[in-house]
This record gives sequence, C-alpha cells and structure tokens, in this order.
Amino acid sequence: MELRVLGASGGVTRAGATTAFLLDQRVLLDGGTGVGSLDLAEMERIDALLLTHAHLDHIAGAALMLASVIDRRTTPLTIYAPVEVLDTLKAHLFNWQIWPDFSVLPTEEQPVLRYRPILPAERFEIEDLSIEAVPLSHTVPSFAYLIEREGRGFCFCGDTGPTETLWQRINERGDIEQLFIELSYPAEEAEIAKVSGHYDLTGLAQDLKKLEQPLTVQLMHAKPGYEQRLIAAVRENPVLQTLKVQHCEIEQRIDVL
Ligand SMILES: [Zn+2]
Ligand SMILES: [Zn+2]
Repeated sequence: MELRVLGASGGVTRAGATTAFLLDQRVLLDGGTGVGSLDLAEMERIDALLLTHAHLDHIAGAALMLASVIDRRTTPLTIYAPVEVLDTLKAHLFNWQIWPDFSVLPTEEQPVLRYRPILPAERFEIEDLSIEAVPLSHTVPSFAYLIEREGRGFCFCGDTGPTETLWQRINERGDIEQLFIELSYPAEEAEIAKVSGHYDLTGLAQDLKKLEQPLTVQLMHAKPGYEQRLIAAVRENPVLQTLKVQHCEIEQRIDVL
C-alpha cells in the first residue's frame, strides 16, 4: 500500500507544504496545505481523514478541500479523531465564523462532512485498516496512529516533544515497521522546541533509544529554513546512525503496508 507525501514541512514556503499524507488514494493522514496539490478527482476519492491534532498546519488544506468538493461528493468525508480534537474543530473552525459548518451542508440529512470520535484505547477500522490511537506530548491534545493491515504496521505521529506511551506501545506490538515522526528543530534550538511542544534532535535521539526493535524512521515537520542543517546533523548523530532514517520529501511515494 502506497503512502504519498503531499506535504511534510513544519511551515509553508514555495518549496514546502504542511503535513498531509495520502494512503492508498482514499485515507488522508492529516490535512495540511499539501492537500492543495491534489486535483478535484483525487479529492473526491478521499473518504476518511485521520487527524492527529487540530493545529492549523494539519487541517487548513482539508478545511478548504471541503468547499471545493461539496457539490461533487455523494458521500461524506469522515474525520476520525479523539473527542477533544473534534470538539476543537467544531468550536473554533467549522463554526460559521472561521468556516462553514460542513456537517450540515449542503443539507443536514446528507452532509459533506461527518465526525467519528475515537475512544481512548479503542481499536477501530477504516476499511481494511486496523488503527489504534496513542496520546503524544504537544501543546494541545495530539495523537499517533498505529495503522495495521494483514500483520504489517506503521506509525504516523502528530506533533510531539519527548513522550512515553508511544515507545511502550510500539515495543509491545512488535508489528510496526516504519515510524513517521517529527523533527522540527536542530539541537541548538532546544528551547524553542520545548516551549512549542516539538522535538529537537537531541530529544528525538534520546527517545529513539527506547525502541527495542529496528524500524525505519521517516522524519517530517522540519521548520522552514532548518532542513539542510537537520539533514547534516541527523547524518552525524550517533543514535540515528544506528537506524535507517529518511527525510520525507514532497511527492515521494513510500511503500508502507
Ligand atoms: Zn504541526
Ligand atoms: Zn501542532
């Protein structure tokens, strides 16, 4: 199964769009500005948005996409996220002030958007994918998703700084082959990373030592301007040198399941 990188940056520039990954053409993992690279037909095929958290860089593209496809879709797009994330979307985004409430448009009976709250520790399904949410450590509720199909799994993380439960669950499960995780800042920017709830290189390297099995680490969410420094620093880091590490690139297609 193919995971297409639509956006993997921690900010917008001409060269970069924010977090949005498309799994098998139908499931969107976060809905950042990368969604804007899709054409209408591709947008119409997306049935599910699995959302890690409610920050703008992870939802802006999906919110705008709803307006683009509203008169073309016959079935709703479902946003899957824990209740606290959905509550934030309802109160602060789809509230008729910032953007329309698409859960009652074009009609209340057949809306273009619906919500599917995920309960704590619930294992849920989207088509043939079996998914588990794990809480992370960010400035707002943020989650990782462990996504499994036919015994193979990968983990897609929302924004986070140093965290605990994630590493326990990956080690307990043993089926996670790839980890998509943020590295926003180089080690020299540890203070900004800390106050903004993100990983800097030192923090991520320390946490990756908790992994008990080898897996491929796919890095994303570099803040604009730090990309080249991060690539060089990752290459020289003794912990990351022991792992297979890649940097997600826009329009890259990654085999995941
Ligand atoms: Zn972010
Ligand atoms: Zn965030």
